[in-house]
Amino acid sequence: MQMKVVKFGGSSLADADHFRQVASIIKADPCRHYVVASAPGKRFSADIKVTDMLYRCYDMIRSREDITDYYQQIKDRYNGIIADLGLNFDIDGELEYVKNAMTHASGRDYAASRGEYLNSLILAKYLGFAFIDAENVIFFKDNGSFDAERTQVAMREELKKYEYAVIPGFYGIMPNGTIKTFSRGGSDVTGSIVAAAANADLYENWTDVSGFMMADPRIVDKPCSIETITYRELRELSYMGAGVLHEDAIFPVRAAGIPINIRNTNAPEDAGTMIVATTASYDADRVITGVAGRKGFSVINIEKDMMNAEVGFTRRILDVLEDHEVSFEHIPSGVDTLSVIVPTAPLDDAKKEKLLAAITRRTRPDSVVIEDGLAMIAVVGRAMVKAKGTAARVFNSLAQAGINIRMIDQGSSELNIIIGVEESDYEAAINAIYKEFIC
Ligand code: ADP
Ligand code: ASP
Ligand code: MG
Repeated sequence: MQMKVVKFGGSSLADADHFRQVASIIKADPCRHYVVASAPGKRFSADIKVTDMLYRCYDMIRSREDITDYYQQIKDRYNGIIADLGLNFDIDGELEYVKNAMTHASGRDYAASRGEYLNSLILAKYLGFAFIDAENVIFFKDNGSFDAERTQVAMREELKKYEYAVIPGFYGIMPNGTIKTFSRGGSDVTGSIVAAAANADLYENWTDVSGFMMADPRIVDKPCSIETITYRELRELSYMGAGVLHEDAIFPVRAAGIPINIRNTNAPEDAGTMIVATTASYDADRVITGVAGRKGFSVINIEKDMMNAEVGFTRRILDVLEDHEVSFEHIPSGVDTLSVIVPTAPLDDAKKEKLLAAITRRTRPDSVVIEDGLAMIAVVGRAMVKAKGTAARVFNSLAQAGINIRMIDQGSSELNIIIGVEESDYEAAINAIYKEFIC
C-alpha cells in the first residue's frame, strides 16, 4: 500500500466545518497515514489567524499588558471547534498551561507554536489518531539552523510506532530545550520533513486553492492552474513570493524524490498541481510556467570609468557586502556600471551610510547611490530554453503597458528571466506578462 503524508493549512482547519471536511478527506484514503496540521487560520477575510493572535499575546506580555480578555478569544476559538464537533475533549487545562507558560518568560516562538500544538491535539482526538509532539521529533542546532540528520533519525523511530498520527507543523526544539519555529508558513516545511522520514510516495499539501496558479490570484483575476511543475521552477517562483508553499518545503522531499501534490480542501475532486523532479514532456502550448514577484528591494548603483579593466573590482564590492552581512539577489553589470540588488528591509539609514562609505573607501567609484522602491519579478518556465523570443515578448508586453524596466537578469539555466520594476508598477507588470503568455 502507498504511503501518503498530508499537510492541512490554516484555512483548512479554521473551524469545525473545515475539520469535518479534513476528516472526510483523510478517511477517504487509508494511505493517508501521517497528518501535519497548522493553527486555525482565517474564517473570513477580516478574521485574525490564531498564530497572529499568539504573537500579539506575546507582545502584550512584553509591554506588561494583561492578556486575559484577549487570550479568551483564543480559548473561544478552540473550545468553539471542540463544541461544534461534539467532541468529548477538555482542552482547558492545556489552554491554562499555555497562558501561564507565556506569561512566565517563555519565548516568542513558544507562544506562536502553541497554535499548531493545540489544533493538532484536537485533530488527533477527532480522527482517533496518535499525537506526536513536534518537540520530540524536529530538532534545531545551536546556531538555529534545522538539524536534518538528528530529525530524520528521531522522526523515523517515532513514526514506526504508529500507523496513523497527527504531528503539529511549524516548530521543533533547540538543544537547550526551548521551542523554535520555522519562518512564517513553516508547517509546509514540517510536512515535507515528515514525508521524507516516512519515505512517503506522495506529500499532499492541502490548502484553499486548487493548486499552484500561473500568477498570484490576488493580483491576476482567475489565473490558470499549473498541472505539473518541476521542483526547480517552483523554487524560483516560491522564492520570488508565490505564497502557496514555503520556499524551504521543497528541499526534504526533493532529496528523497517524493512528489508534492497541492490540493484544495474545499474542492477535493480537483487534481491540483503535481510538483515533480522532471517532466517527460513540455506543456507545448505554454512557454512560461508561472510569474511571481516581490516588492521591497533596493539597488546599489556603482559607476566607475574602466571598471571592467580593474581586476578584483566586483570582489571588493562583495567583500564589503559580506563585512556588513548584507546578502544580495542579483548583480547585473555594464561596462562602467554595476548594480547590486538587495532586500530593503535589513537596511536602515545608518547601515546604508556605512555601506556607501565602505564601498567608496574600497573601490573609489565615480558615483555610488542606493535607491529603494524596486519590485522584482521572475518569469519562470522550463520551456523557455527551447522557445525563441521569450525575453522580447516579456519586454514588449511591459512597454505596451507603459512600464519602465529598471533591471534585467537572465539565469544561466534559461529557466527564468528576472525583471526589476518600480514598486508602483508591480501589479500592472504581473498582469501584462501574464496576459502576454496566456492569451
Ligand atoms: P495555507 O494556510 O493552506 O498554508 P497559504 O495562505 O499559505 O495557505 O497559501 C495559499 C494562498 O497562496 C492562496 O490562498 C493564494 O491567495 C496565495 N497564492 C499566492 N500566489 C499563488 C499562486 N501562484 N497560486 C495559488 N495561490 C497563490
Ligand atoms: N501557523 C503558522 C503561520 O501562520 C505556520 C503555517 O501556517 O504554516 O505562519
Ligand atoms: Mg501556508
